[in-house]
Amino acid sequence: MGPSVLEKDLYDEDVLTKPTTTSADPTIQNQRFEIDFGKIVEPEYADRTGRLREYARPVLEKLRDYYSKAVGVATNYFGDVKMRFGKLPTTYLVFIDPRTGREAKRLPIGKVFGQYSPETKEIIIDPVVDKNTGDPERRLLEAYFKIPEARSVIAHELSHHAHDRSGGIRSYMEKFGRKGIDMIEGIASYITEAIGYNDNAYPVQKRKIRDLVDRRGVRETVLGFV
Ligand SMILES: [Zn+2]
Repeated sequence: MGPSVLEKDLYDEDVLTKPTTTSADPTIQNQRFEIDFGKIVEPEYADRTGRLREYARPVLEKLRDYYSKAVGVATNYFGDVKMRFGKLPTTYLVFIDPRTGREAKRLPIGKVFGQYSPETKEIIIDPVVDKNTGDPERRLLEAYFKIPEARSVIAHELSHHAHDRSGGIRSYMEKFGRKGIDMIEGIASYITEAIGYNDNAYPVQKRKIRDLVDRRGVRETVLGFV
């Protein structure tokens, strides 16, 4: 196996297009442009199992390639991201037995599977999405939700990070305030789907983003020039 493209490397901001001379005569200005998306600088994984990294690696490559081609922004730097497994909120509807005053039944009605914070650049993935962790909540939630694959949740959260770095999150928040959050979620789900994953999330917001992309193109939509 050759050297991995995921090896840690210095972040080169000027990686998108590099001119290379094709002519033997250097005085002839016959240049072609080669696309070099750059080596990926991986997140910091706080995970002794190694599984977060295993899931994230193909996602990072697909995200870099898609983002660089479709959005036109070099997206190979994830070195400021810290990624870990951690339990995230589940919303339950709890039924109390009026005779005993005790809980009779609980139904999960909402679940956060992953989280990205633009302030701390931290990504938290609930272990319930990983079939291999044996998370006790999994069996209960399975009865009520279609639990997304770990790599799809990671793809969604890393899409938020790419969007954040490109300035898209800031531009949506400045333009639309709290309403910008729906569009930001729609964009993360849209990109997750575009790179081949399914997070089972935000169908309404994603549809709105698809419409926007049809009218304005991917780059304008993602960067917030809408
Ligand atoms: Zn999200």
